Amino acid sequence: MDTGDILRQRFPMYVPFKYRIYPFRDQERELMRQLDELKFLWNYALEQRQYSWKTGKVSVGYAEQCRQLTEWRGNDRGGIGRVYSQVAQECLHRLDRAFKSFFGRIARYPRFRHDVTSLTYPDAYNGSVAVTDGRAATKRLRLSKIGDVPIQYDRPLPGGRVKTCTVRREGDRWYAVLTVEVPDVPVQAITEPKHPVGVDLGLGSIAALSTGETVEAPKLFRRSERSLRRAQRKLSRKEKGSRRWGKQKVVVQRRHAKVRDQRRDFAHKLTTEWAKTHDLIAFEDMDVSNMVHGHFAKSIHDAGWGMLRQMCAYKAQRSSGMYIEVKTKNTTQECSVCGRNADPPLGLKDRIYRCPCGHTEDRDVNASRNILGRALKSVGLDRPELTHVKTGPPPHRKGRRVRSLNREPPAAKEAAF
Ligand SMILES: [Zn+2]
Repeated sequence: MDTGDILRQRFPMYVPFKYRIYPFRDQERELMRQLDELKFLWNYALEQRQYSWKTGKVSVGYAEQCRQLTEWRGNDRGGIGRVYSQVAQECLHRLDRAFKSFFGRIARYPRFRHDVTSLTYPDAYNGSVAVTDGRAATKRLRLSKIGDVPIQYDRPLPGGRVKTCTVRREGDRWYAVLTVEVPDVPVQAITEPKHPVGVDLGLGSIAALSTGETVEAPKLFRRSERSLRRAQRKLSRKEKGSRRWGKQKVVVQRRHAKVRDQRRDFAHKLTTEWAKTHDLIAFEDMDVSNMVHGHFAKSIHDAGWGMLRQMCAYKAQRSSGMYIEVKTKNTTQECSVCGRNADPPLGLKDRIYRCPCGHTEDRDVNASRNILGRALKSVGLDRPELTHVKTGPPPHRKGRRVRSLNREPPAAKEAAF
């Protein structure tokens, strides 16, 4: 068994689920109040670190600040004392991590905050957060020191046990991001997969599958992106800090949220379907940070590729399929039939792979077959016939279509996912 290409069958430890919440007016007031306290805490703790270093060359660490916080909370019950203890500690922890990143030269110096928009319960296993039943068939999110907040619980949590919870304000809306723990499962000898698929996350389309399908971004993405850009332009013309600016900012945030929500919903639909129809899903492991430059930048940032991979991983596991990531080096340049390298190499604009062996295929589909081939090889199933299973696209499905070989691909920027 050649394990050269395999990384591991990767399951994220914490999978996030985002829900809209609808705090009552007094709950909202309390949330705003607590966010304000956290802002104060952050700025205070940052200043303390700066000051003690400047004056006495003493560095104040997380442990020391936590100790002080406990004392402070006891004396200020109406202020920082109203925030749940671990939420306040998490704020200090975040500052500590920000300093570590700075010293590790991977981030800039932590800044004072004008605005804190989220608070995090780092360990909900102790009962600080829970999803409970509300009136009728509704659900409530129980948050320590806040109360039972109505939640749009449209997607049940797998396992149902909340590990962490982040409450966030986006414009005039509130969201809760709940994470659940998913165990890391090692690669085991598997029975032969019947419907394996390789996925190449592309620039032209969202994804190309080894079954020959390509998935395009739904048209409505572009429409809402355009409306977001328009709102942003309008914002930039307003005087910063003015009343009109403030109003327009809310509009921008709302449209941002819409774009994000659309993408997440689409990613959920895609991955659910993949996990249903395929018992092995192979992805490329791509160090996205290496690719963020030039015109790649937008499509990658917007891509939500990390999100797609993460969803795939846990959904594959849920339906007892396999999820494998392989290194992507050369998947584009190699012929998926004979293994030859393209000569001359394919440029960014070459959409079709043509091999002297006679193999001609969409470049991304060819890459996805290579991804699948390597994944199968990594688990000891080096079987060309599995790589070339053609199931074809299911008929009449929204948001996806097969791209014919002759059609010009959409510009990468436009199809950004
Ligand atoms: Zn060939």
